[in-house]
Amino acid sequence: MYAESSSHAVTCPYCNTSSTKVHSRYQREIQDLPIQDMQVVLLLNTRKMFCQNPDCGHKTFAERFHFVDSKAQKTNRLVSHILNTSLKLSSVSASSLLKKNCIKISKSSLCDLVKKNT
Ligand SMILES: [Zn+2]
Repeated sequence: MYAESSSHAVTCPYCNTSSTKVHSRYQREIQDLPIQDMQVVLLLNTRKMFCQNPDCGHKTFAERFHFVDSKAQKTNRLVSHILNTSLKLSSVSASSLLKKNCIKISKSSLCDLVKKNT
């Protein structure tokens, strides 16, 4: 699946100035909720931008998306699905159930995720 945001300007998360100067582009692989029992990985085209505010402490910044955290490899809705599943189960049964449902997560990342969100 292919996703790209349509707007040209991107707002700097550090100083809130919008910028249209693209530094470079790269692709992030983001796991999303499965479709038809198949694992879904979004190839998210992400732009790295120059901040055009000379007073900002950051020269460049990466484009951010509302459906995924800036460093995350899973969409927010997938993370909440994983958390809902693991609340009712032990980490071992949760990770095998998720695997059966085509969601790839290791036991250790599952534990980290649950720890971070409880
Ligand atoms: Zn800035």
